[in-house]
Amino acid sequence: MTVSLTTPRPLIAGNWKMFGLEASLDEARAVAAAVAQAPPAARVAICPPATLLHRMADALSGESVIVGGQDCHAAPQGAYTGDISAPMLADAGATLVILGHSERRGSYDETCEEVSAKVLAALAAGLEPVICLGETLAQREAGQAEPIVTGQARNSLPDDLSGQAFAVAYEPVWAIGTGLTPTIADIAAIHAAIRAVLVERFGDHGASVPILYGGSVKPENAAEILATPEVGGALVGGASLKAKDFLAIIAAA
Ligand code: PEP
Repeated sequence: MTVSLTTPRPLIAGNWKMFGLEASLDEARAVAAAVAQAPPAARVAICPPATLLHRMADALSGESVIVGGQDCHAAPQGAYTGDISAPMLADAGATLVILGHSERRGSYDETCEEVSAKVLAALAAGLEPVICLGETLAQREAGQAEPIVTGQARNSLPDDLSGQAFAVAYEPVWAIGTGLTPTIADIAAIHAAIRAVLVERFGDHGASVPILYGGSVKPENAAEILATPEVGGALVGGASLKAKDFLAIIAAA
């Protein structure tokens, strides 16, 4: 990936989902040590489960690996059993948060409007939101991928993002955890469509917001995907759990 002076550094973010116990912190430490030894072109983030957030932030304190949350509630506090607010993530040491992941949209029926409200909460807490968009297989097969994703972009990104640090992640639902990926041409087409929405909404700022690709990114396909026009990094699930694989993806950026 060629990074010009006006292009922000790409972002490679690991989403650990509901994986990881205390011993997994060694993987994060190994990533941080390698990043310190050979600083990569990309910014690097790891989003562990909430139970590890504080410990990971402590373990990586002073390192250049960003620690992030995987979701937040739209309210700063309240009677919402089991939920975590954006200020709580920040208090635990997170500086970034994944929002609108398809596993949240799918399993918890999160709407774009709810995602948008969570983005506002993240911004208020000083967190960098990474907002996920993506079509299902049925939507792609019906030729609806582009309108679905651009519709999600329009409805999930509040105007308040203007001038703020944020990223968007295109994650086709059918590519997550399946080993399947779209063709490079399909990734390029959707990323171009998302870029057009970002520019329409946020002008010059929208032209430089990183658009990550996510969905079965592995060491074997990372270089080709990351070299695709308008791909500004990757959101990585399974392959972020092991430092060796994650570092190979980071090195490809
Ligand atoms: C994800 O969880 O955002 C993801 C892209 O998962 P995977 O890389 O395992 O497909």
